[in-house]
Amino acid sequence: MALTAKSFTINFDQMTGLSNEKESVKRNLSDMKNMFYDVEALEEDIKNENDPQVYEYYDLDIPKTDGDIQFGSSIVSPGKVGNEYYMTKGHFHTVLETGEVYYCISGEGYMLMENPEGDWQIEKFIPGQAVYVPPRYAHRSINTGDQPLITFFAFRADAGHDYGTIETKGYRKLVVEIDNEPQVIDNPKWKQ
Ligand code: MN
Repeated sequence: MALTAKSFTINFDQMTGLSNEKESVKRNLSDMKNMFYDVEALEEDIKNENDPQVYEYYDLDIPKTDGDIQFGSSIVSPGKVGNEYYMTKGHFHTVLETGEVYYCISGEGYMLMENPEGDWQIEKFIPGQAVYVPPRYAHRSINTGDQPLITFFAFRADAGHDYGTIETKGYRKLVVEIDNEPQVIDNPKWKQ
């Protein structure tokens, strides 16, 4: 007999994005070496700013089946390393053919996406608007504002996360501040 799933609820605060029912996963600057292109600025910031938190998200104990949905909030702090905005590491799904939806609760920024074939896409996060990440696209949330960027995501629970490809090769494109405006540039350190 198949296991019977249990329904449940969990809160995510509309102001902070945080849940008081579950510990978030936290990523500090020191967890993101190789992600920001200005390595010297990153090392300086780790030292001078006491290794600040860059983002946090929730990884709920959802069964990893193709019928279950993994979901939660993601909160990216405002900030920059050099002129590159704070962002998430970004990942492909291990099951590459898996899409995802992100709903922006508050803050401002971008969802930057790229597929293994080299196509890339970018969408703006606007509170009250959802961004659809199609299958095959790595995705990274970038906070270009001065408040936390809070989004809510949901995807097929067996898709898994492939962080290694991005950690090794980097992203093709970066979002940096030039003349006080966010701009997309080629990543000078991207590896074929
Ligand atoms: Mn994902």
